[in-house]
Amino acid sequence: MKRVLVTGGAGFIGSHLCEKLIEEGNDVICLDNYFTGSKENISHLMDNHYFELVRHDVTHSYFAEVDEIYNLACPASPIHYQYNPIKTIKTSVMGAINMLGLAKRVKAKILQASTSEVYGDPLIHPQTEDYWGNVNPIGIRSCYDEGKRCAESLFLNYYRQNDVRIKIIRIFNTYGPRMNANDGRVVSNFIVQALKNEPITIFGDGSQTRSFQYVDDLIIGMQRMMASRDDFYGPVNVGNPHEFSMLELAEKIKEITGSKSKIVFEPLPEDDPTQRQPDISLARKELNNWEPKVQLHEGLSKTIEYFDELLRREA
Ligand code: NAD
Ligand code: UDP
Repeated sequence: MKRVLVTGGAGFIGSHLCEKLIEEGNDVICLDNYFTGSKENISHLMDNHYFELVRHDVTHSYFAEVDEIYNLACPASPIHYQYNPIKTIKTSVMGAINMLGLAKRVKAKILQASTSEVYGDPLIHPQTEDYWGNVNPIGIRSCYDEGKRCAESLFLNYYRQNDVRIKIIRIFNTYGPRMNANDGRVVSNFIVQALKNEPITIFGDGSQTRSFQYVDDLIIGMQRMMASRDDFYGPVNVGNPHEFSMLELAEKIKEITGSKSKIVFEPLPEDDPTQRQPDISLARKELNNWEPKVQLHEGLSKTIEYFDELLRREA
């Protein structure tokens, strides 16, 4: 049994990770300040003696004897990370310093949930890990992008200077049950709009692309990265290379839900990347042939089922 700390464990991805770690018989500390996460996301784990929930903000230091740390704490959707941009930067940067300090002190292995956003609006396609990115350092997304880039730099420097055992994954857009219904991300927005037969809001002309992975595939990739050979620290892309436009996504969700929603077009947000697709050759090579298994139709159907039930309960 390992003692594992998950920061941001009450959020969308963190809750799935905590669930899997508990299922596998680990002792899990879930640390969260509930900014975008909630106790409901992990309520089904509360009765387990090996699950411990701690209300804590990663911008303050924290101490616990642990073997592994997954550092996920950070708001991830544009609405939430732009709500208090200074706090977003502090969470990424001070959160990384505090968790790396803890890893150094207790000799834990530490994994950083970085993001495809470090590539900004990419000029090469698909994105490989050696691409340095095209980020606007003073734009409205920079509190997130640059915070995550600084965190990557901190991780590498703790590795070089202090021999901390680090792992960095760059997560591409992820979806699934327990996404926050109100955080403005495209999958949750479109599904909720479709289920309510309200207009589906496409920003811009809908030709911009993303590549979405289902959350279960990501969790497997994350755990394989944590377990990867000691001299491999990444960064490694973890995402689904299946790329599609937002217009195609809207049509697919309409089709699965049988919705009567109209599609409407709204202005494109500032600095919205036009395309994004991971090159996952490195993940295949280093993470034991890891690749996404869940197809879009199957993943969307499970996510739609989750939101359908949520909306019924709320009604
Ligand atoms: P989320 O908002 O659901 O989860 C983030 C969690 O961190 C929440 O529970 C929130 O309350 C917590 N948190 C935020 N600030 C905190 C702080 N200062 N102290 C303690 N807890 C704090 O988002 P998510 O989609 O689950 O994302 C998890 C991680 O994965 C984030 O680091 C995000 O940047 C990264 N990521 C996510 C995606 C994606 O598509 N979902 C893509 C790339 C990277
Ligand atoms: N988007 C959209 N309608 C919405 C919400 C988002 O067309 O209601 C677009 C958004 O402009 C972006 C894409 O969908 O081009 C993905 O947005 P999201 O916020 O989910 O992820 P990110 O931009 O961070 O990749």
